[in-house]
Amino acid sequence: MTRAGPQPRRCLVTGGAGFIGSHLVEGLLAGGDSVTVIDDLSTGRRSNLDAARAAAGGRLREVIGDLGSTLAGMTPANAEHYFDEIYHLAAAVGVRRVVERPVESIETNVFQTAAVLKYAAAHRDAGRQVPLTLIASSSEVYGKSSKAPFSEDDDVVYGPTTVLRWSYACSKAIDEHLAIAHNASGRVPTAVVRLFNTVGPRQVGEYGMVLPNFVRSALADEDLVVHGDGRQSRCFCDVRDVAPMLPRVLREPRCRGGVFNVGSDRPISIIELAELVIGTLGSRSRTKLVSYESVFRAGVGVFEDLRQRQPDLTRLRAAVGFAPVIGLERTIRDVAEEIRSSRQGASSSVSAEVG
Ligand code: NAD
Repeated sequence: MTRAGPQPRRCLVTGGAGFIGSHLVEGLLAGGDSVTVIDDLSTGRRSNLDAARAAAGGRLREVIGDLGSTLAGMTPANAEHYFDEIYHLAAAVGVRRVVERPVESIETNVFQTAAVLKYAAAHRDAGRQVPLTLIASSSEVYGKSSKAPFSEDDDVVYGPTTVLRWSYACSKAIDEHLAIAHNASGRVPTAVVRLFNTVGPRQVGEYGMVLPNFVRSALADEDLVVHGDGRQSRCFCDVRDVAPMLPRVLREPRCRGGVFNVGSDRPISIIELAELVIGTLGSRSRTKLVSYESVFRAGVGVFEDLRQRQPDLTRLRAAVGFAPVIGLERTIRDVAEEIRSSRQGASSSVSAEVG
């Protein structure tokens, strides 16, 4: 069965109150679709959906709750609970969270993905068209391979299971296997995006994300804490370039059953990033190197970092085209602006209470 005409799609975005999810929700609504968000607000925030809510005109439904239990109480047979597209972004995210709460993180990433795919497949039993389903994976899946750049069909190389860092990579790899297997067996049409470092407004620093932490420190003229020797490099892409790619990949028939790197392919070392933040914001901060061991809790296994992580974007460009337009300086300025205005908002709400 194919969708007739250009009528609005019914989209489910899991983790839609999160950083990337909320930008995706805005884009889907802007394209005329209606969106249901399921999010337990473990790392997401309701305020991330303020702009979407204002623009939605009743086309946004927000369900606050654990994804697995929420789906267990829904059925695609119900007129409100079937979807044309599912974007599965809910996950335990961030290296610090994974290292500090490993059991919860592994279970969240594996069980919730299984529940989402099962729910998508259940559409058929309910006499509905099975939704296209996008699974958000991560560049972490490449493990500690030293190859550059990473291509989607490269071998992956993990450390021992006693090192917690690899549990995130393995859980995301299982998610990919599940998605690919569902597609191959004809149960659910899927596509997998392997997201590389995504940055921009609404990303929070509490879970170990580097850019918001650097910007926050720079605005306060405090030291920018760089882990290791700072020469490890990453490729950062603005979320406003990344989020629009997700529907494009999901809707492109050639992407079915495939895995696609999504991100920027321009590396920058972490020490250079720190200096760029300081320079862009005209801060008096300095950079400070600290060892990984002093940052991550002792007794949970040695933390291993990767020297570089750069995507090969050939497959993505060939399938849907991709040319990020937002440079890092603009991202840094916009993240700084958001932090400044949230501080002003916080202080005005405090004075309102006092007054
Ligand atoms: P995020 O933490 O902002 O988003 C995840 C969202 O999922 C949050 O809103 C959280 O509250 C929600 N969530 C978590 N567990 C849930 C559960 N059990 N039930 C319901 N909701 C739940 O992080 P993000 O950066 O927006 O990440 C989105 C996706 O992209 C994740 O799958 C992540 O692994 C992937 N990813 C992100 C990056 C990046 O650089 N941000 C890189 C690689 C992969």
